[in-house]
Amino acid sequence: MLNLVLFGPPGAGKGTQSEKLIEKYGLVHLSTGDILRGEVSAQTELGKKAKALMDAGNLVPDEVVIGMINNKLESNPNAKGFIFDGFPRTSAQAEALDKLLAEKGTEINHMLALQVPDEELIKRLLLRGKDSGRADDANEEVIANRIKTYNEKTAPLITYYTNLGKYTAIEGVGTIDEIFDRLVAAIG
Ligand code: AMP
Repeated sequence: MLNLVLFGPPGAGKGTQSEKLIEKYGLVHLSTGDILRGEVSAQTELGKKAKALMDAGNLVPDEVVIGMINNKLESNPNAKGFIFDGFPRTSAQAEALDKLLAEKGTEINHMLALQVPDEELIKRLLLRGKDSGRADDANEEVIANRIKTYNEKTAPLITYYTNLGKYTAIEGVGTIDEIFDRLVAAIG
């Protein structure tokens, strides 16, 4: 199996590059943000609880997203591998992911971290907010909170994966194809 964590701050290009990677490697794309937005639009109980947190740019509780990932792993028993996009975002999530994968006799192969300067992230997110319909992309204060949350809660995972020898930094500025080529070269 090939299991990748595509890592990076909001606006780094994780969704765009995931689409290209799943096409090339035949992997299953697991984006906790996409799953949560699906719950919000279907107005499920989970979606109703998650919406306020998402709109403010705060994280949804660990046990909620870990449960979602567990369901997706269970419902794809024959997958060639997975791309985790926007997950894990906290140490508790990273530890839970390792445990879930170990129970299935597999593990994360690489954590590929897209590096993009903050000014570029803000520019990209505001541009995306114009037509994505995402409330959390349209407001500069919410964007700032998402970047702050990333720096405080998520960036420490770089150390976690570095200690496991799985961390690779990827320059996340350039054309979509240039960035994709760098990811493919890192996967090897
Ligand atoms: P994203 O599409 O990855 O930018 O996620 C949008 C929003 O969904 C985030 O700002 C969080 O509120 C929530 N979210 C997505 N993934 C996670 C996660 N792994 N842990 C906690 N909250 C998450």
